[in-house]
Amino acid sequence: MAQGKVIRVKCGNCQTELFRYFKDQRGALIKLYLHEVRQDNVGITDKPIDFRPKCPSCNSELGIITLVHGKPALKVNRGVINMRT
Ligand SMILES: [Zn+2]
Repeated sequence: MAQGKVIRVKCGNCQTELFRYFKDQRGALIKLYLHEVRQDNVGITDKPIDFRPKCPSCNSELGIITLVHGKPALKVNRGVINMRT
């Protein structure tokens, strides 16, 4: 059964809100499946594999888009994002 909640994901550098994301598991956020992004302030949901999105405000590199279990996901750089419920 899918349980989870929508969280706010912010840039760890400048605190700009980057995404709202439906997170279905506890624990650290290390990847964001693109199909679970509910609000995309960065513009990643239509980007190709290997794209490296940046914070629209401070230009910090957020991570890299890659395939996780066959689905496109943003694998986030450590310490780059904050998440809030
Ligand atoms: Zn930023």
